[in-house]
Amino acid sequence: MLRNFTALLAALCIASCASTPETQQAENRLPEPSLEQIADNVWIHKSYHVVEPWGPILSQGMVIETDKGVILVDTAWTDEETESLLNLIAKETGELPIQAIVTHAHSDKMGGMDALHAHEIVTIAHQFSNEDAPARSLTPARTSIEMREKDNFIATAPDSSIVYEILYPGPGHTRDNIVVYYAPAKVLFGGCLIRPGDSDNLGNTADGDVGHWAQATRNVAEAFPDAEIVIPSHGPMGGRALLDHTIALAEKAAAAQ
Ligand SMILES: [Zn+2]
Repeated sequence: MLRNFTALLAALCIASCASTPETQQAENRLPEPSLEQIADNVWIHKSYHVVEPWGPILSQGMVIETDKGVILVDTAWTDEETESLLNLIAKETGELPIQAIVTHAHSDKMGGMDALHAHEIVTIAHQFSNEDAPARSLTPARTSIEMREKDNFIATAPDSSIVYEILYPGPGHTRDNIVVYYAPAKVLFGGCLIRPGDSDNLGNTADGDVGHWAQATRNVAEAFPDAEIVIPSHGPMGGRALLDHTIALAEKAAAAQ
């Protein structure tokens, strides 16, 4: 009895002694990548990265489980985080993605390309993303799709069913930004082109075309009139109001130029 009691005390001590510094460390550590299911067969993936001077920045991508395989939209910020994300996806769906589409050449969307290639995942990007990637220290996707403004790339399976759609709306957040639509769930992944509802600015415009941003967003709204769920890169998902909100912010920013 006494021995058991001592053992218990020892165990409690180890647990509490270990937990204090660990808790403090956890507070300084960035959250691990995570998956949030938002509809049948659709998840948002989240990862964080410290970007000075702003601090930790959330970036979101999408995962779609189709009967043709799992499709990943955007990597996490880094190869390491993307590797964790792939593990999460495999746990959740039982398989690794067969294809990944990346929505523009910045590290929040393409920072984990090498991790995808290590697993032989087919990677797809707009031709401009692949052209711009090396100068931004990013690995290009292995497949380039050439699209002009308003071009819609429809990924079909061998039985000719539509799996997902990509639209190139023209320049906005970057010259290469694309959006991805998954019709069965009416989900539109808008990436960094689309701003969160609580944002009062366009975010990072360093590589952007502020003068064309509103038109690019209108092109998205017109191309996908049935979209009901809209996912931005850097904040909560919403409805079509996020498209109107982004158009309003872009018009204001363009007028101020
Ligand atoms: Zn970006």
